[in-house]
Formats: sequence, structure tokens, C-alpha cells
Amino acid sequence: MVRSKHIPLIAYHILRTTYHILYIMKRETIIHLLTSRVEPFDFIVIGGGATGLGVALDATTRGYSVALFEQSDFTKATSSRSTKLVHGGVRYLAQGNVSLVFEALRERGILRKNAPHLVKDQRFLIPCYRWWEGPFYFCGLVLYDFMAGILRFGRSMCIGPKRSVKTIPNLRQKGLTAGILYHDGQFDDSRLGINLVRTAVDAGACVLNYMRVTGLLKEDGKISGVSVRDEETNTEYTIKSKAVINATGVFADDILQMDTPGKRPSVRPSQGVHLVLDMSFLQSDYAIMIPKTSDGRVLFAVPWHDKVVVGTTDTLMKEAVEEPVALEEEINFILTTAGHYLTRAPKRSDVLSVFAGLRPLAAPRSEGKKTKEISRSHKIIREDSGLISIIGGKWTTYRRMAQETVDFAIRNMRISTHDCVTETYPIHGAKPNPNFSDPLYVYGTDADEIRELINSSPEMSERLHTHYPFTVGEVSWIIRNEMVCTLEDVLARRLRILFMDARAALEIAPQVAEILMAEQGKDPAWKDAQLTAFKQLVSNYILND
Ligand SMILES: Cc1cc2nc3c(=O)[nH]c(=O)nc-3n(C[C@H](O)[C@H](O)[C@H](O)COP(=O)(O)OP(=O)(O)OC[C@H]3O[C@@H](n4cnc5c(N)ncnc54)[C@H](O)[C@@H]3O)c2cc1C
Repeated sequence: MVRSKHIPLIAYHILRTTYHILYIMKRETIIHLLTSRVEPFDFIVIGGGATGLGVALDATTRGYSVALFEQSDFTKATSSRSTKLVHGGVRYLAQGNVSLVFEALRERGILRKNAPHLVKDQRFLIPCYRWWEGPFYFCGLVLYDFMAGILRFGRSMCIGPKRSVKTIPNLRQKGLTAGILYHDGQFDDSRLGINLVRTAVDAGACVLNYMRVTGLLKEDGKISGVSVRDEETNTEYTIKSKAVINATGVFADDILQMDTPGKRPSVRPSQGVHLVLDMSFLQSDYAIMIPKTSDGRVLFAVPWHDKVVVGTTDTLMKEAVEEPVALEEEINFILTTAGHYLTRAPKRSDVLSVFAGLRPLAAPRSEGKKTKEISRSHKIIREDSGLISIIGGKWTTYRRMAQETVDFAIRNMRISTHDCVTETYPIHGAKPNPNFSDPLYVYGTDADEIRELINSSPEMSERLHTHYPFTVGEVSWIIRNEMVCTLEDVLARRLRILFMDARAALEIAPQVAEILMAEQGKDPAWKDAQLTAFKQLVSNYILND
């Protein structure tokens, strides 16, 4: 029974929820909250990729005041360009990096519990073509399962060549001696990023995209905040804080240079490319994992949103750029290697999308190491000014990295102690036992609201493309709720169609631009500029013969 003394509390919760729904994910509201604040924040986080979003969520849910600034869109850089695996890393086990595998397997299990709508149990097959590979990889994967303990996704098995071909009909049969079946996690990287933004904002963080950190503020040589520029309006702000966390991935050295000009580089960008193909190349819901390609690397072919993502490469690059472009030799390497293992070899014309990402590898102390030898683990570094940088790591371990970073800041910056709570903190949209065949499954608990909007009128239920389920209603909901600023934000990191099928993205771009213009009250000149910019970008994702 509701007692009268509970009424103010209930009213407060209703008002708070309404406030969150109506205003909290609106950029202008967050900017107002940011600039009207008198006290310094406890934490400023620079960078809205996996690492920065993890740190912002960790610190906010401990009860600290937090602001996060992303210069572009959330997950614009490396965090939208992964292999889409939440994994322990079978290859790190082969390299003997047991502690990294332990940590990643534990985090894989935690993430699946906190975001069951985003992390799928993915079954893999390792095809073996030499007699010793079957027993060798099977032993390794039994150990992998054992290390995952109660957070294990499923049991590994060794199967014969016939059953391997039945499992993946397109697998090259000649010389096949065995197949190893194992389980790992699969996810949508940007969608997790956007859900982390919403979780952090719901918990009270000021999280902003298109807000570039242009300088560091110091008092008596100690870091005391940052200056930022709103890239949408060109307005400059100075924001104060007790701790500043540099979570800018491959761009970490730019921020370190602001702190200590001339400092030795801490990050090595290493490029990884993926090609996206039609599902007919796999004809199975199993993924393929090739543990050792001709140049000693790992190659995956993973089902993702009804497509197959094939990659990756590991090419040391000279500098970090916002929009990396696949090199011809990387594309050829993936096509040739995939052709060795599939009965139907993919050609350039089969590629629906190609995307490149830069790994923020922590630079080794000694020069001359190959990229595959550089640690995939992360590093936390503190400068004399108090600036803290978190570099390296994986999407899978973002939560643990965030916990360590905030603990480190508490110890070093003399901030009052609060315990980490993210191990059991549900991520926005969390929904147990999701129906992965529902096209809206990635939205978790938001899917009902989206469906309601789609069904609200014939205009809203209009499909944007004959081959894809996207509707006007879904796009409108995204624009209203997910802090979208540009056409690219919608097509690349909310719908993901740029990564799934770049030509289809180009086809629906004019209609999506119209919806964006109407929803945001922009003018036709703005819309045309968005379309021109998007068309230019898409050329990096399309392979021409
Ligand atoms: C090819 C490839 C495949 C991968 N596959 C997997 C995988 O399957 N599973 C897995 O767990 N991990 C994978 N990873 C690793 C994982 O993707 C990265 O570790 C992770 O995304 C890094 O996140 P980050 O936040 O550190 O960097 P980023 O995502 O690059 O984020 C840094 C952000 O900082 C912003 N920034 C820079 N300068 C400023 C500034 N001055 N002001 C404001 N913002 C700024 C940038 O715009 C950027 O968005 C893969 C990586 C690559 C490259």
C-alpha cells in the first residue's frame, strides 16, 4: 500500500525519470550543467572511447563528480573498429600471457552479466590441417575453459574433418585433419559505447561529444582542469577538476605534449583492417579462427549483424589519424588468406565494407620490437603535474582498466576513497535472455519504446532500404535520444550500416539526412554539407576494382 509519507519520494522519482528522458541526453542541457557548475569536478576524462567511457562510468558510480570530453563522436576512433569480440584472447594464451587471459576471461563473463543484450555467446571453429594441431589447440582451449571457471561460456570440443565441414560448409576440405570448437563473446562495439554514455549520464556524469580538449590548466605546476572547445559552436570553456585522466588512445601523446612539450612518445599506433562480406561466404553461425596465418598472425571470420567480419592485420603506422585508411597490402593479405581457408575465395567486388582501426599499443622501452611482440596489456602513467594517462588494453577489459585507473587516481591525487561498484552495475538497456533474432535486440529495454514510435504512424514505420530493417522511427528515436550531431554519427556508429554495407549506407544517406534536418531544426544548406562530408568519408569504406 502507498502511504502518504511515500508520495513526495514517488513524485521525486517520477520527476527525476521524466527529467532524464526529456533532457538529460540533450547536448545543450549537459553543456548548461557543465558551465553552471561552481565547484571543480572530481574527475575530467579526455576521450570518449572504451577506455574513457569506462573511467567516467566507474568514477561517477562511486559518487564522484565527472565530466568527459570527446573531440568527435563517441567511439569514433579505435573503439568502433574492433573485431567485435569480447574474448580472453586465445592467441595471448599461446604467447604465455596467462595473467592477461585470466583477466580478460573474467571481464568477458562480467560484461555478459551486465550487458546481456549486447554480448552474445559466439561459437568458433579452428580448422586444423596438420596432425599435431588438433591435440595442440584442443589442450590449449581446455585450459582456456578452465581459466574462465564459472564464467565459462561453453565447453570446447575436438571434432573430425567431416563434422567440421558440416559445421562450416564453406571450409576448405583438402588436408583437413580435425576441427576445434570453442566459445567466446561477440558484441557491437559502438553500441556498447553509446550504452556506456547513457549509463554514465543516468548516473550523473556530464558526458559530451564534439568537445575537444585544447589545453591543460595548471596551478603551481599541478594540473587543475582543461580548456575545451565546442566543435559545434566554436565556443571555448575552461573547466576545473581535481584529477584529469588522459584516455585518448592513439592520441595520448598529443595530450602528454600539452603537459610536457618534447616528451618521448608513449604510444605506437598499429593498424588493423577488416573486410565485411556477405554471410554466404560462411554459410554458418560459427566463426572461424585461424591461429597462425602465413605471417604468423591470427585471422578471424566472425558473423556480425548478418554479415561476416574478416580480419585483421597488424601494421605499424607512423602517426595517428582520426580516419585511418586500409592499405592495399592489408586488403590483399586478408583476401588471399581468407581464400586459403574458404571454398569460395572472396574477391574485391564481394567486399561490402572495409574499415581500419589503430591499436593504441603502449610503446616498448626498447626500440625495434615487432608490433605483435608489443604488450596488449595496458599501462597507467602519472606525470609530475598529476596528469594520469591510461594507454593500451582491449575493449574486453575496459571495466577493469577503469577500476585500476580510478583507484590509482584516488591514491595519487588524495581524493576521498569510494569503492568501485561496476562489477555488478547493469549497463543501460540490460535485459536478460534477449531475443537475438529481433532486429532491435541491441537496444535492450529501449526496444519497446522504439517499436512504439515505429508503430505510431505509417511515416514512422517506413523502411529505409529493402535489404535492411531500419525504419524512419528507429532513426528518429536515435536522433532524439543518443546525442547525435552529424549524419555520420547515425550511419556509422548508431545504425552501423557504414560498417556493414557502405554502398547501402550511401543509398539511405539522403533520407536519413532529411530526418536529421527535420528533427534538429537545421536548414537545407546544413543537410547538403552533411551529405557531401558523408559521401567523401564513404569512399574510404568502399573497395573499387
Ligand atoms: C583492428 C583492431 C581490432 C580489435 N579487436 C578487438 C576485439 O575484438 N576485442 C577487444 O576487446 N579489443 C579489440 N581491440 C582493441 C580495442 O578496440 C581498443 O583497445 C579500444 O577500443 C581502445 O579504446 P580507447 O578508448 O583507449 O581509444 P579510442 O577508441 O581511440 O578513444 C580515444 C578517444 O579520444 C578522443 N580524443 C583524442 N584527442 C582528444 C582531445 N584532445 N579531446 C577530446 N577527445 C580526444 C578520440 O577522438 C577518441 O574517440 C581491437 C583494436 C583494433 C585496432
